[in-house]
Amino acid sequence: MHSLRLKLILGFLLVLAAVIAGFDVFVYTAQRHALMHALDGRLFAATQAAARYLEIESGQPVFDPARENSARPPLPRVFRIMDEKGNILGQSPGPISFSWPTAKAGDPNPRRTTIRPDRGVNWRISTWTERLETDAGNSAKARPEGEASIGIVVQCAESLAFSAKELRELSSLLALVSLAAILIAGGGSYMLAGKALRPIRRVTAALETVSETNLDQRLDPSSFDVELHPLITRLNAALDRLEKGFQRERQFTADASHELRTPLAALLSAIEVLLRRPRPEAELIEAHRDNEKTARSMQAVVEGLLLLARMDAGKAAPARESVAPAALVEDVFSSIGIETAAKSVRLVQIIDPAFRVQADPAQLRLALLNLIDNAVRYNRPGGHVSVEAGRTGGDAVIEIRDTGIGIPRENQPRVFERFYRVDPSRAEATGGCGLGLSIVRKIIEGHGGRVSVSSGPEGSVFTIVLPDA
Ligand code: ADP
Repeated sequence: MHSLRLKLILGFLLVLAAVIAGFDVFVYTAQRHALMHALDGRLFAATQAAARYLEIESGQPVFDPARENSARPPLPRVFRIMDEKGNILGQSPGPISFSWPTAKAGDPNPRRTTIRPDRGVNWRISTWTERLETDAGNSAKARPEGEASIGIVVQCAESLAFSAKELRELSSLLALVSLAAILIAGGGSYMLAGKALRPIRRVTAALETVSETNLDQRLDPSSFDVELHPLITRLNAALDRLEKGFQRERQFTADASHELRTPLAALLSAIEVLLRRPRPEAELIEAHRDNEKTARSMQAVVEGLLLLARMDAGKAAPARESVAPAALVEDVFSSIGIETAAKSVRLVQIIDPAFRVQADPAQLRLALLNLIDNAVRYNRPGGHVSVEAGRTGGDAVIEIRDTGIGIPRENQPRVFERFYRVDPSRAEATGGCGLGLSIVRKIIEGHGGRVSVSSGPEGSVFTIVLPDA
């Protein structure tokens, strides 16, 4: 079940049904108790009345309903009177559909029993035992046991048919009223739930109008109920993030196209010039070298973009291995050796060969390559680059320090953005594709770490912090 409205209605009706059922059971039980109480009262009075029809004659109790006695109440409809030996002294005429429960004189008074025959209606029996004096007087009179007295048992019965009918009627009435209450409450809760959910439909309608072309649209919390304000605020925040994400995406696509368009145009025009007339072989080789350089820079951009796209999509989750940064740095130093020599930049590493970090070796090498390569490219001739590593607290820290041109303070926060260059006019000279630092940040953040820069006129320091995995 996925409908909130249905859940609200069913939840409410369930609680209501439980309350009504409790109420019904209470009313039914109270009524049943009251009926039985009244019945037992009537039956007890009936046993008393029947006992008044006993007379003592020659020391023996005699049942004589015919004898004239205006003080006697009418005889009950169903009764029997026995002496203490179990002899029937008198009983109501006509057949009865149940068997009397056994009773002895001296049983505690009064005793009530409900007889449930296999067929037909139930009967309620009241049994009353008493001792009558046998030595004097005409009418039966109770006196304590042990003297000249005889025990008698009077039983009266009344069918429970009437009470059962009343209770049946009461149940039907209760069921009818309860059903009506649930139906009315169901209808009411359907309307109320609809009303309560209306703001959600309004939010939905407002969101339906949002598309990538008008992501600047926001919902006004003041036009919604106060309970919905947190939802509206979070939706607006999500729209903010979405808008920024879309903007970044658009900017990125524009930058990427621009980044590839310039070298591609240069490559095409160089080829066009070459094709205009036959060229000597030396000139052709020279032109091919230039074109190859251009194509390689385009390849670097495309590969950088592909790598970032894979990392953005979470498809380049880093492996966790024990890696020695000293060995990685050494490897990087040797791979950029020619460039370094050309600029006479000195490379130094101050890392304990035994020092190890938990990282993806290929990814960490690529991050170090980008940072050390930058440190050489943006260095001054004869400068130097030093790499240090160690542990601070629980974190592994790697620092790449150079004596290069530095990064102005206002540009430092942006150098990790894709295609951002402090001085775009120098891109040609330094040969970077503008993606190096964004790849570094992506890799380090993928390891749960962070990378930062601090820089001044005397050079820059890039710091990688890797948490101890
Ligand atoms: P690029 O390929 O242009 O080097 P990066 O993403 O690696 O792209 O770096 C972005 C920009 O940050 C560079 O264009 C450069 O202006 C600046 N930068 C990066 N590293 C250094 C450094 N060690 N010294 C000075 N500037 C640097």
